[in-house]
Amino acid sequence: MSSMPLSYPWQMPQWQQLAGLHEGQRFPHALLLGGPSGIGKLQFGRALLCSLLCEHPKNFLACGECHSCQLYQSGSHPDIRELCPEEGKRQIGVDQVRALQQFTSQSAYREGGRKLVLIHPAEAMNPYTANALLKTLEEPAGDTVLVLLSHSPSQLLATIRSRCVQLTFPLPEHNSALKWLQNQLGQTEDAEALLRESGGRPLAAQQLYESDGLSQWRAQDAALAEVVEGKKTVLQLADSWQDREVPDVLEWWLNRLAALIKHLSAGQPLNARWQAYTSMALPAVYLQYEQALGLRATLLRGAALNKRLVLEKLLLDWFDAFYGRAPSRAY
Ligand SMILES: [Zn+2]
Repeated sequence: MSSMPLSYPWQMPQWQQLAGLHEGQRFPHALLLGGPSGIGKLQFGRALLCSLLCEHPKNFLACGECHSCQLYQSGSHPDIRELCPEEGKRQIGVDQVRALQQFTSQSAYREGGRKLVLIHPAEAMNPYTANALLKTLEEPAGDTVLVLLSHSPSQLLATIRSRCVQLTFPLPEHNSALKWLQNQLGQTEDAEALLRESGGRPLAAQQLYESDGLSQWRAQDAALAEVVEGKKTVLQLADSWQDREVPDVLEWWLNRLAALIKHLSAGQPLNARWQAYTSMALPAVYLQYEQALGLRATLLRGAALNKRLVLEKLLLDWFDAFYGRAPSRAY
């Protein structure tokens, strides 16, 4: 039995907004929850489904005791479907969306009840799959509510976005995120540093702590610095990262570039290893950041890429931008 999911303290405004719509019986058939990854949108979505299905909600909070709540806790609520990439895959398959159509066309298990669907992340659908979903979005069967989660709503088909009521989740306010993280990790852990390294995203910080990612990120910072110091070539560096997964490297990379951009544009603090790159022009850094975002989107669409080539290109592009495009690569 799992416990009932609850939204996070920093999600109160969004929660109240939806509670208001529910109270006024104006709850939309399709919702798009958008915002950075690692800030708790998934748990918010799950808490929302529970509240919508609960037989005795109190102030739009699931009671945790009724038949519906018990079904949820046993992991077998027949009126809920979650769609996410199957294990080992990066994409939501079109067969998954077709099965969803069948699910929404049947009447709810509880008489007169709702059927709820949570799709996360929505950008894990390629255009073909997204088009298959459109039919369900356009003609919702009965009392169906679709909740789509997205870390970058701008990447979704405009036709999908326009059919959803969009709700934006900004980065949590710093103190609220820090307090939560300290509660999770205990006061002895360096929650402040973890939160900073995660770009202010508390769940990403928790994950970073649990996977010991911080030491890996710092090792990557140090390895990158070795190229600047002439101790290692880019190709040797790419070689030494063959045991890493590209999405993990990208997570670190995007985080570091975002920090450098914030430093260059707004004077925000930057970790010592990255001071070497502060001579770069902001547009050049921004271009690299956009390229990395594009690469992440390509991976999410399920493209099979050669890890070595991807890492080499990422690093060569970076040092090209850092040194100015050199006629022959000397790094
Ligand atoms: Zn309940």
